[in-house]
Amino acid sequence: MRKKLVDEIRKKGILDENLLSAINAIPRHLFLDSGFLEYAYEDKPFPIGSGQTISQPYTVAFQTQLLEVKPEDKILEIGTGSGYQACVLAELGAKVFSIERQKKLFERTKQLLRLFPYKINLFYGDGYKGLPEEAPFDGILITAAAPEIPEPLLQQLKIGGHLVIPVGKGDVQTMLRITKLVNGKLKKETFGKFRFVPLLKDKAND
Ligand code: SAH
Repeated sequence: MRKKLVDEIRKKGILDENLLSAINAIPRHLFLDSGFLEYAYEDKPFPIGSGQTISQPYTVAFQTQLLEVKPEDKILEIGTGSGYQACVLAELGAKVFSIERQKKLFERTKQLLRLFPYKINLFYGDGYKGLPEEAPFDGILITAAAPEIPEPLLQQLKIGGHLVIPVGKGDVQTMLRITKLVNGKLKKETFGKFRFVPLLKDKAND
């Protein structure tokens, strides 16, 4: 089933074989509640509780490809959610730091990730602020829809690093890749339309 999913993602235009192998290596069904196993290898997003979703595998692959992750890269993810995307990054050899603002989801994912052979650093907090104590990062990935690019995240990006973020105020967002150039200026590229749950400000009480 996992191979079939990888073939489907390849057909949709993801050609990075390292990334496809990483997706092939990760048991996505473990990130869904056990009653929904039959949905785990469809190329669709799925509810994971607390009003949140695990992203569509193609979207995970697309964002990861844009990041151009190299082994040992220090990557910051905003929106841990199920932890699936964090595992894809870790399988590629990245040192992963990931922030989630929903306490229940954070606790659940922390438990789940203990079952995996990766050392992923999980943080409960507001991703808008990033992680200044661990900055700078080789790459920053935002997996929720942002109305604008959070300024602190740009400051925490290394020169030559990419920040990948879906930006938009409505239901549909534009995928942006921002690259920090040697003169400190930002290069902006756009990559089509996607749908994400919103990036919310401040910690929730949930
Ligand atoms: N990357 C996830 C999917 C994320 S869905 C996966 O692989 O499953 C988006 C997540 O962003 C949700 O879990 C949501 O709670 C979280 N989120 C929203 N606003 C946030 C913020 N300001 N800081 C950190 N996480 C946030």
